[in-house]
Amino acid sequence: MTQPLMRRTIASIINAINTSDGAGVRLRRSLGSGEGTRLDPFLMLDEFSSENPGDYIAGFPSHPHRGFETVTYILDGHMRHEDHLGNQGDLKSGGVQWMTAGRGIIHSEMPQQEEGRMRGFQLWINLPAKEKMKPAGYRDITPEEIPVHNLSGGGQIKIIAGSLQTADQLFQGPIAGLTTEPIYLDVSLPAESSFSHPVAAGMNAMAYVFEGSVQIDETSIPAHTAAIFSDGGYVTLQAGAEGTRFLLLAGRPINEPIAQYGPFVMNTAAEIEQAVRDYQSGRLTTI
Ligand code: FE
Repeated sequence: MTQPLMRRTIASIINAINTSDGAGVRLRRSLGSGEGTRLDPFLMLDEFSSENPGDYIAGFPSHPHRGFETVTYILDGHMRHEDHLGNQGDLKSGGVQWMTAGRGIIHSEMPQQEEGRMRGFQLWINLPAKEKMKPAGYRDITPEEIPVHNLSGGGQIKIIAGSLQTADQLFQGPIAGLTTEPIYLDVSLPAESSFSHPVAAGMNAMAYVFEGSVQIDETSIPAHTAAIFSDGGYVTLQAGAEGTRFLLLAGRPINEPIAQYGPFVMNTAAEIEQAVRDYQSGRLTTI
């Protein structure tokens, strides 16, 4: 006998707070905005969106990371990436950079446009202890590499990580094979249509609404809000009266202790002290 799949309900809601980071980039932070706002394996989710270059042009000058992954998804605008190893990348509208900081990276992330809207997301995904010190690596994903499923009633789904099975087609996102088994979908829905997606039991899942609103059960989730799902086998979200656009994120929890100091995320305080010493002595990336 197999159990019927359970629909996931809402376990909690996190309203994004306005903050700034880097050299003064204004952003909305949901995950990682305070005590109890992580969702294992996700550490932080920032949404940046502004028409005003003063809110973003200073960018994120040279800074380190160790022990996790950063996923940058640009909806509008143009970001240039450079690291201490001489790697360079241009992240354009619709593109994704999936960076594994591993044992260490020192990089800058700088907006290139001087006018117009800059909009996108940065998600931090933790690494298990045994992968925290692996060499740094990148996946630069162009918009063309991201499968798009157009819904018959309007709307579309972009599959950045994980897969989407429709009645007659399997869409496989460009990111696969990670220990945390991430699902990262960008879902646009017209008014009052709904979307269901399987998320295996034991995975953590959330939706981050960034346009319009969604209804989950009887609860309306407005824009700039994260809805954390309970455990179960699938999620169902219904668009509000103005339609909606949201990220559906899910991942396999790591279930290890977290010690974080800014851009270093390890398991113990001693490992954080080591990371700070390594950075100060210029050995962050070479140990
Ligand atoms: Fe960074």
